[in-house]
Amino acid sequence: MKKYDVIVIGAGPGGMTAAMYAARANLNVAMLDRGVYGGQMNNTDDVENYPGFTSIKGPELGEKMYQSAVNAGVEFVYGDVQQVTVGDDQLKTVKTDSDELVAPAVIIATGSTNRKLGVPGEEEFSGKGVSYCAVCDGAFFKNKDVTVVGGGDSAISEGLYLANVTDEVNVIHHRDQLRAQKVLQDRAFDNDKMDFTWDTRVTAIVGDDTHVTGVKVHNNKTGEDQIVDTDGVFVYVGNIPNSQMFKNLKITDKAGWIVTNDEMETSIPGIFAIGDVRQKKLRQITTAVGDGGIAGQNAFEYVESLKHQALATQSEVTNGN
Ligand code: NAP
Repeated sequence: MKKYDVIVIGAGPGGMTAAMYAARANLNVAMLDRGVYGGQMNNTDDVENYPGFTSIKGPELGEKMYQSAVNAGVEFVYGDVQQVTVGDDQLKTVKTDSDELVAPAVIIATGSTNRKLGVPGEEEFSGKGVSYCAVCDGAFFKNKDVTVVGGGDSAISEGLYLANVTDEVNVIHHRDQLRAQKVLQDRAFDNDKMDFTWDTRVTAIVGDDTHVTGVKVHNNKTGEDQIVDTDGVFVYVGNIPNSQMFKNLKITDKAGWIVTNDEMETSIPGIFAIGDVRQKKLRQITTAVGDGGIAGQNAFEYVESLKHQALATQSEVTNGN
C-alpha cells in the first residue's frame, strides 16, 4: 500500500491539470489511469478551440499536458480503479485491480464513455464496420461511403474528419436540427461530401458474413422504414459517465454524473470530481482543464487543513487540554 497526499483518478485533460496543480503546491501526487494518458484527446483529430493553439492534434495536446504534469513531479501509475473507500481518519483508499493507494484527497477525473445505439447488429458488427472513433478507424473507409449517427459536436466534427478520408458521409439525425456548435454546422453544411438525413432513427445495422452493408432506418415523420446502403457506421449519440466504481460513495445524480459545487467538492470532504464525469453543461477540454485547476488547488488546501488540525490536536494533547 502506497501513501500519497493526493490521488488523481484519470489522466485526461482535467486529471492532468489537477495533478499538475497539486504537485506544483509541493504535494506528493499519484495520477492513475487504466490506459494511456490523454483520455478522449487521443481520439480527437484537430482541436481548434483550445486557446494558444489555432489547431493542434488531440494526442499532441495530451502529450504536452502529460509533460507538464510529470515536470511538476506527478507520478503516473497504471491501474484500473475498482473502488474508493473512506476511513474514520478521513484517509481514502483507492483499490485498483493490482494495488491499494491511500491519500487524504482524491480527485475523480474518469470522464465518460461513448453511448451505444442499442440496436440489433451494433454489437455484432462492432469492429466490422461499426465504430465509435473516426480518427482510429476512418482510414479503413477510404473511397467508401459511411454513415454518422448523431447531431452533437462529436458527430459533426468527426463527420468532417471522415469527409476528408471517405467518399461520402451521410449524417442520420433523429431530429430536424443539429445540437452541434454553429461553426461546425456551417462547415458541415458547406461540405460537398456531407449529406443529412433528418427526423430519422437507425433501427438496426445490417451486413453480410464479414462486414456492415447498410442501416435500417425509420422516418419519424412519414413512418417509412427502409434500408440505406453504407460501408460503415460511426456512432456519436452522447456519453455515459464512468462513475460505476464510485457507486458506494453515493455522490452521483440518477444518471451517474458526479455532483459537485463550484469548488469541485463532492458531498464527501476530500473527494473532488472534475471534467466530463461531473454533472455540468459544457464538456470541453477547456472546461475540464478549468475544473482541474480548481480541484488541484482545493485538494492542496484540504490536505493543509488536515495537517493544521492534526497539529492543533497534538498541541492540545501536549498541553494536557
Ligand atoms: P452530445 O452533445 O450529447 O450529442 C449527442 C447527439 O446524439 C445529440 O444530437 C443527440 O440528439 C443524439 N442522440 C442521443 N441519443 C440518441 C439515439 N438513441 N439515437 C440517435 N441520436 C441520439 O454528445 P457529443 O457530441 O458526444 O458531445 C459530448 C460533449 O463533448 C459535449 O459537451 C460536446 O460539446 C463536447 N465536444 C466538444 C467538441 C468540440 O468542441 N470540438 C467535440 C466533441 C465533443 P439530441 O440533439 O436530440 O439530444
